[in-house]
Amino acid sequence: MDKIVLMLELQQQLNDATNGAQWTSGVTKNGKEINWKRCIYMECAEMIDSFAWKHWKNIAAEPDWDNLKIEVVDVWHFILSQAIEENAKVGKLSFEDLANQSCAVSSYAGITKQNTLYASQKEIIEQVELLMLDALERDGFHLSKMMEHFFTLVKMSGLDIGTLYRLYVGKNILNQFRQDHGYKDGSYIKIWNGVEDNVVMKGIWEENGDIAPEFLYEKLEAHYEILEA
Ligand code: MG
Ligand code: MG
Repeated sequence: MDKIVLMLELQQQLNDATNGAQWTSGVTKNGKEINWKRCIYMECAEMIDSFAWKHWKNIAAEPDWDNLKIEVVDVWHFILSQAIEENAKVGKLSFEDLANQSCAVSSYAGITKQNTLYASQKEIIEQVELLMLDALERDGFHLSKMMEHFFTLVKMSGLDIGTLYRLYVGKNILNQFRQDHGYKDGSYIKIWNGVEDNVVMKGIWEENGDIAPEFLYEKLEAHYEILEA
């Protein structure tokens, strides 16, 4: 539950920084319309592309399990964003209450224990399609239904709340770090001494165990400063 609160907070910060604080009204600071539900089903399509689902192409290719996990984390960014936007409009709950409501679904219990097992390709794709249907729902947004489907998918993808949190925080902090260091104007350096920034980020996680998001940011800063010097 606490991890969900933290992730809601981090998502709010990232969206404030990227889109401006008014983003929950559905437009960015540049006046561009935001459609989180579309982001969700498009990422779901990327998830399905982790599998050799096409009957006419690369039919024997192995699933790309690492990419599946990356896409699960990508879609989670957008589900959190949609939940925050919807809550700002109608629920106006605290993040603690919003997290409580999210964790009240039955599939949440399934990700509270360590898990590394995958479901079958067929099961996963069907689950992803349930999530797509939620995102394509015309009459509003049903938080509990989407959380129920998403947490089931987390488990099927060989993840649990601990590993989801770790991957999510890593990606979120790296996204913030990139935005703060010239990603938009193109001055950001992505290869650090021959290693891509996200590999450096993973290394920091592995060296330090369960670290606080701010600590991860500071460590990235320390690595990056040496580069710039
Ligand atoms: Mg992708
Ligand atoms: Mg993606």
